[in-house]
Amino acid sequence: CGIIGYTGHRPAVPLIIEGLRSLEYRGYDSAGVAFIQHKDLVTVRAEGKLANLENKLMGMNVSIATSGMGHTRWATHGIPVERNAHPHMCSDGSLAIIHNGIIENYQPLKNELKALGYTFCSETDTEVLANLIAEGRKQTGALDKGISWALQRVEGAYAVVVYALDMPGVIFGARLSSPFVLGVGQGENFVASDIPAFLPYTRDAVFLENGEMARIEANSWQVLDVKTLEPIEKQVHHIQWDV
Ligand code: GLU
Repeated sequence: CGIIGYTGHRPAVPLIIEGLRSLEYRGYDSAGVAFIQHKDLVTVRAEGKLANLENKLMGMNVSIATSGMGHTRWATHGIPVERNAHPHMCSDGSLAIIHNGIIENYQPLKNELKALGYTFCSETDTEVLANLIAEGRKQTGALDKGISWALQRVEGAYAVVVYALDMPGVIFGARLSSPFVLGVGQGENFVASDIPAFLPYTRDAVFLENGEMARIEANSWQVLDVKTLEPIEKQVHHIQWDV
């Protein structure tokens, strides 16, 4: 339901939690974050309010990570419990995704992926997409190509953010019929389902259209055609209003 991804120079986890808080008005039943620390892709998830997630994070030292992503879920596939909360990892833990929307053809894709040896820990449509992207990466040899490959096989609506263990400063995002906006900062960049998530840090926004993919790093951002991976020229909008 609410999505934020960050890469930059600040401690990512508290920033992500604040971002999720500013998206709380949309409603949610569970929440989670992913970040990379000590060469580990870590996900922390909790049922219920953001405070529950914060309690879980309290005992962990999360100040090192300067990139990551967070999600507030409004369940469509799978009951609202921790194992169904996002982020979802692919079977081998090499990447994680967060997702808004619905993957309509998740069942046939899940059957196909199971036959290839992928395993599932949740009942969500989202975990199918995580494994499909992992398979796409395997088949194409690159993460951007793998995302493109996977998204061309998916029917439904999505805003999705992809974060891989071996590319810790890089965040990919894509959309089809779900809101998605990029926040352009100084030495930091954001992706989110809505502007309030990054408004304390930047007022420069780039709106993603259907079929577009974003790739952000701390000092660069790019929008690509999700099918061809050709760069698309985008306009940066300066946001005048306050929340
Ligand atoms: N369909 C996904 C799920 O049920 C995403 C729900 C959402 O948009 O929050 O996990």
